[in-house]
Amino acid sequence: MVDKLEVSLEKIKKTADVPEGYIRVSGPIEHDNIVNGEGLRAVLWTQSCPIHCFGCQNPETWDYTKGTLVKIEDIKKELASFKGQSGLTFCGGEPFVQPKACKEIADFVRKELGWNVWSFTGFTHEIIKKTGGDAWEFLKSLDVIIDGPFVLEQRDLSLRFRGSRNQRLLRLEIGTGKILSIE
Ligand code: SF4
Repeated sequence: MVDKLEVSLEKIKKTADVPEGYIRVSGPIEHDNIVNGEGLRAVLWTQSCPIHCFGCQNPETWDYTKGTLVKIEDIKKELASFKGQSGLTFCGGEPFVQPKACKEIADFVRKELGWNVWSFTGFTHEIIKKTGGDAWEFLKSLDVIIDGPFVLEQRDLSLRFRGSRNQRLLRLEIGTGKILSIE
């Protein structure tokens, strides 16, 4: 029998088929957002998700062929034009199936704009670490992940930045991916 961890490991390997220098997004970049992380934030909505949680609020973001292919350089220019933001949050879709593109953008906003970087992911920290490669490199560039799939039976509207009780808000050490705290 294939266990849940193996299923997740197979899914995270199903990376989006995106040309070098591009990212597949599901909608316009937001700014001045106050609900997808702390402070005033830009939010990048990625396209493609292999997890398919029952009760997902964004099923239109699952398809690997839909959304829009955008040049990473154009994303950077748009982000740099936003004033007064304290950070960027990657939402999905599943950002970790486009880890190289997301890491390039994360490194840009940290180094060039001085922002912190958060990402939502339906995978757990443990699965991303076990996967290694580009997914782990992206995680190591983040301040915070909100990890784990959305589980409808565990939905809790009182949670901060999370949809269900199994999900965790993990503060990470930049450069190592070490978990500093769990909420
Ligand atoms: S991981 Fe996120 S985008 Fe993917 S199915 Fe689950 S809730 Fe939806």
